[in-house]
Amino acid sequence: MNKYARLDLKHSWHPFTQMKDWLRSEPIVLAGGKGSVLHDVEGRTYLDANSSIWTNLHGHNHSRLNQALKKQLSRVAHTSFLGLSNVPATELSQQLVQVANPPRLKGPKLPKVFFSDDGSTALEVALKLSYQSSCRQQRKPRFLSLEGAYHGDTVGAVSAGHIDLFHAAYKGMLFPTGKVMSPYCYRCPFNRAKPERGDARDTRKCQWECVGKVEQTIEQARKKDKPFTALVVEPGMQGAAGMVPQPQGWLKRVAEIARGQGMQIIADEVMTGFGRATPANSGKLFASHVEGVQPDFLCLAKGLTGGYLPMAATLTSQAVFDSFLGEYEEFKTFFHGHSYTGNALGSAVALESLAILQSKECAKRREAIEATLRNECRQLCALPQVGDIRQVGTVVGIELVKDWTRRTPYALKEQVGIRVCREMVLRGVLTRPIGSVIVLMPPYSTSVAQVKQMVGALAEAIRDTLPTGDLRF
Ligand code: PMP
Repeated sequence: MNKYARLDLKHSWHPFTQMKDWLRSEPIVLAGGKGSVLHDVEGRTYLDANSSIWTNLHGHNHSRLNQALKKQLSRVAHTSFLGLSNVPATELSQQLVQVANPPRLKGPKLPKVFFSDDGSTALEVALKLSYQSSCRQQRKPRFLSLEGAYHGDTVGAVSAGHIDLFHAAYKGMLFPTGKVMSPYCYRCPFNRAKPERGDARDTRKCQWECVGKVEQTIEQARKKDKPFTALVVEPGMQGAAGMVPQPQGWLKRVAEIARGQGMQIIADEVMTGFGRATPANSGKLFASHVEGVQPDFLCLAKGLTGGYLPMAATLTSQAVFDSFLGEYEEFKTFFHGHSYTGNALGSAVALESLAILQSKECAKRREAIEATLRNECRQLCALPQVGDIRQVGTVVGIELVKDWTRRTPYALKEQVGIRVCREMVLRGVLTRPIGSVIVLMPPYSTSVAQVKQMVGALAEAIRDTLPTGDLRF
């Protein structure tokens, strides 16, 4: 075992990891990378099939991103944003406001940017701002979020989350939030077909019962005189719930209902933002905008710096901003901040990442990845262990099932996802499962051949881990 693996086993505690299992095997210690390829200290190479936990946009060791960082580094790495400003953070605010407010999009404008450190803090900021802006309108703040929601691991973000496996243990620390059904078409409790399928005479034609549930929940709360003041939602696709996409039209309908009741919308685009879960040919960078929805809070992190540095931003409206204005002694100030708020290195690399993202070349690359993933994943349909293949933009979730005819899920303790991903590692592909869902989310630097290699490795890994004999057809 190499020196670094020994050090890791001795001292490191890894996130979302049963360390008893971890300590039984030799960890992969990464040492470098270029584009979509990473290499470890033993010289083995791997494809980064989940963009290093959904953060990396343009590939590793990117010459333009490196250059932007070096340039900033030669000036200054970090200065406080408390009582001071800095050059790259001001420019980044302007750029973010520009991309977050496309022309002709209805809804509030988002001209204000509050920087923080990661996805969890981006949500924390939105929750606190929403809370206070409601209080200042003499409304009691009440949040509604979705079944299966995951918004990060700080206490506020966990309160808005609804994954028992992660969150139940901390119940005593959390504030209550409402929970409402989120669409999961593959396991539709109303036994409807996906809305894009079936015609009007089809008894399985989608009747949007899931939207009805949201309407009911909001309406019931209002009747009980406990109206919700904000809806927290991951637009387009719920990531940690297992890459579960919302059918087209769901968010638009739900946003209309929420707005009709005077609720604010907090959009968590930590995973979906920056073109991740938007069709590349839509020209949209944020999943909310694909549905024509402009939230009151747009929470961004992960891809903001192209996956280089931890940094986040919460964009919001003039109205929210104004609700914190007052004379000093009124103490309406937003008393919240982090030591590294508005970090100069992060801002500089984020600016360059945004410039790359908006180039024609990047759009072409995203289109090619999206199309190749769609075509290549078709071969997985033949495998009886594959229940559902869900793709939005360059994100794919492949749900493995015990019996595809009944959609029977595997028990979590069978560790099916973990086992399949372990087999993929042996084939030089790195990703992380969500339960029995395998995630493919390549960086935009990934070539067509590399995408094929990722899907091919997955197909082999499924066959070898879960032998069942026959193909489905
Ligand atoms: N929101 C969503 C939708 C996420 O996927 C994540 C992280 N996976 C977070 C928030 C939290 O982000 P972070 O890990 O950067 O705190």
